[in-house]
Amino acid sequence: DETFLDDLRRHARERPHKLAIAGRRITESRTDTLDYAELDRLTDRFAMALLELGVRRGDFVAVQLPNRWEMVPLMFACMRVGAVVCPISPICPEEELRHRLGLTGARVCVTLPDWSGTPLARIVTALKDELPDLDHVLVVDGPAPEGALSFGDHFVAAAREEHRGTALDGLALTADEPFVVLFTSGTTGESKGVLHSQNTVHSAVRGYVDAFGLDGSWVATVSTPLVHYSGFAQGVLAGVMLGGTVSFQDMRENAALLDLVERYGATLLYGPPATLADVAASQRAEKRDTGTLRHVVIGSAPVLAELADEVRETLGARTHSLWGMSENGPVTMTRPEDPADWAAHSNGRAIDAMQTRIDPAGFDGESDLVGRLKVRGASLALGYYRREEAFAAEFDADGWFDTGDLARDDGRGGIRIVGRARDAIVRDGLVAPMTELEAVIGSHPKAVEAALVGLPSAADGGGTVICAVVVPRGGTGPSLDEIRAHLGDADHDSRFLPDRVELLPALPKTLTGKVRKAELRQRYAPAAG
Ligand code: ATP
Ligand code: MG
Repeated sequence: DETFLDDLRRHARERPHKLAIAGRRITESRTDTLDYAELDRLTDRFAMALLELGVRRGDFVAVQLPNRWEMVPLMFACMRVGAVVCPISPICPEEELRHRLGLTGARVCVTLPDWSGTPLARIVTALKDELPDLDHVLVVDGPAPEGALSFGDHFVAAAREEHRGTALDGLALTADEPFVVLFTSGTTGESKGVLHSQNTVHSAVRGYVDAFGLDGSWVATVSTPLVHYSGFAQGVLAGVMLGGTVSFQDMRENAALLDLVERYGATLLYGPPATLADVAASQRAEKRDTGTLRHVVIGSAPVLAELADEVRETLGARTHSLWGMSENGPVTMTRPEDPADWAAHSNGRAIDAMQTRIDPAGFDGESDLVGRLKVRGASLALGYYRREEAFAAEFDADGWFDTGDLARDDGRGGIRIVGRARDAIVRDGLVAPMTELEAVIGSHPKAVEAALVGLPSAADGGGTVICAVVVPRGGTGPSLDEIRAHLGDADHDSRFLPDRVELLPALPKTLTGKVRKAELRQRYAPAAG
């Protein structure tokens, strides 16, 4: 079993001066880059610094950083000393941060002085009193408050070269030990800490790079946070596995992504639909050279046909759709050999390491092709940290894991995601094709985006009311009749036309941009009694 550390070592030996990562810090308008030799060297230095801070094999190390270069040698340094890295977003609310640090018993937390006005370093340092396991808070780039240490002093300068190799001997994590805990988006409830080994992630990343035919010549620009599965694995780890180059920026400025594409000659751009829409718009406003770009990979949410067209026109690249989740990483994706517009119709076929299957969803009078998406294979996580029973409960007797998503067959051996089982809108035993209807409503000229929710009818035995919650474009937003007509034009099954429309300036979303439908249902449910 090969580890990501082995991959890093091999490339540091064979191609020391190849650019490994380019992380942009917009605040200083400069780019920080590391080649493979530098990344390998910093990994050992940071590993020594972790040892000097008292981190031992099996400990957890929290890293609360935006997309910055320090994140990368830190995650490899954790593997090097046998620690489990716990990446946390700088926009994680304080309550959730306390929960994650407490749950994992992190010994060290690396953070920033502040993030968009939030004094992160002071907040984390104040938590030390309630978290007995938290020995050290390290602050990157800026003053450390009392009780915290400077990252520069401890990591960049203090770790001494002559220790290399000896103190670290025999500590590195094996391929099947836990090496990271990645938190789910918390869309359906409390966010879960998903424990992965290098084996589980390696198999997912291998499937991902093979699906797109990537090799050591690939250059990626990733817009998703490195603290979530997609940025962490499809970004950094995929790059290091192949010896390619990965560039990223600190996630507040989507337009800057094209600077990276242009500067590093990116061949693949990865992000959620909203980011890619911003990128395409910025390319219309100010044209950059995107001639190297071949693949635009969109995950986390459905791809609209208009977006795929816009990406092709403005960036000259092909759009792919990818489905995955924190529990299993990227599992299905459309491929370069699929029809050109396939990303708008499908979420693609499974990678070699994984199998998918669509089981009956179990709704009353079900007569449908939509069902529960289940997965099985090598990329599945080790479990939910400290919620082992909740993870075990999702498996059936044959070892299939219930993803909680609804999907149907795409007709080409792949799947198409319809929505989440708990958000299902069912009429006459048929599940509304929620993601498709939302895409069409969102494409109305007076709409930015839309979410469909099923509400109980106020009338006795009235069944389900389909409510379209729409973010208006410009002033007024579409009326119910306009939405129904628009869906009719797109040839949609009339039984799923919305009964009600509500306008909202913005949809409630998680930190990863997923709509919290439970919140919408609560907001618009008829008052009880
Ligand atoms: P939680 O499990 O805490 O409720 P979450 O499921 O949103 O949160 P993630 O693991 O970040 O947490 O997201 C995975 C989910 O994202 C999938 O289960 C699916 O519902 C959705 N998703 C991922 N990719 C796509 C896609 N291409 N199209 C539609 N939905 C997607
Ligand atoms: Mg989930």
